[in-house]
Amino acid sequence: MRLVGKVALVTGGTRGIGRAIAARLAQDGAKVAVCGRTEELAQQAASQLSPDGQVIGLGADVSDSLAVEALIGRVLDEWGGLHILVNNAGITRDGLLLRMKEADWDTVLAVNLKGVFNCCQGAIRTMLKERWGRVINISSVVGIMGNSGQTNYAAAKAGIIGFSKSLAREVAGRGITVNVVAPGFIETDMTASLKEDQRMRLLQQIPVGRIGHPDEVAAAVAFLVSDEASYITGQVMQVNGGLLM
Ligand code: NAD
Repeated sequence: MRLVGKVALVTGGTRGIGRAIAARLAQDGAKVAVCGRTEELAQQAASQLSPDGQVIGLGADVSDSLAVEALIGRVLDEWGGLHILVNNAGITRDGLLLRMKEADWDTVLAVNLKGVFNCCQGAIRTMLKERWGRVINISSVVGIMGNSGQTNYAAAKAGIIGFSKSLAREVAGRGITVNVVAPGFIETDMTASLKEDQRMRLLQQIPVGRIGHPDEVAAAVAFLVSDEASYITGQVMQVNGGLLM
């Protein structure tokens, strides 16, 4: 229960990795707001995660700065503080560069990268007042090594790393750490569409010999937001079964 007294916001917390992170932070004692694209899905997830109100669900599109401002306002109204921000919301719109539609580039950058900017800008103000804060931005192994058919996604995920290192430098003196968690291939809806042959090829490149579980990403996040990680900032923690070393 090392997060008792802390309030966390997990974007994209309605399913997959975000949901596992929300569950783990709640298990560690934090009050958790999960945000998803629709309020209904977010509330459903929240009540499944914790029927007693320790987890609440709020709808907001992270790419919309006004919606994010309102989202953070609602977390503060509910619990009077915000100490932990996990920017997990993300989407893919894959395609080779020559065929990629401008809209697919724009949408992926807007959700995956501008969403991180929007949420950080809103949350950091409160964390500065508290003189304590933890920001975890979820990138991807693809942001480090690239992936054919994902120029938009890789650019956004690599952008998150540069953004996080810069923000980490800006706020390090105020008790706020900013770190990146970069998962490899994790079993969620996002990877469910992989064809069997793609899956087999991938498995051959993962020394651990299997696809990861969302809880294994959540465990890394739980450590980085704890007091034990107070001297770790501006880092990229890879959770990928050895896919990239
Ligand atoms: P998922 O598709 O299962 O879940 C994505 C979540 O983001 C959902 O809750 C969805 O509602 C939310 N979301 C999407 N667009 C949003 C928006 N505009 N505003 C608010 N919420 C929005 O994905 P996942 O596999 O759980 O991935 C979670 C994060 O981890 C993403 O950032 C993804 O890029 C990253 N990641 C995933 C993998 C993987 O293998 N699954 C690997 C590396 C990185």
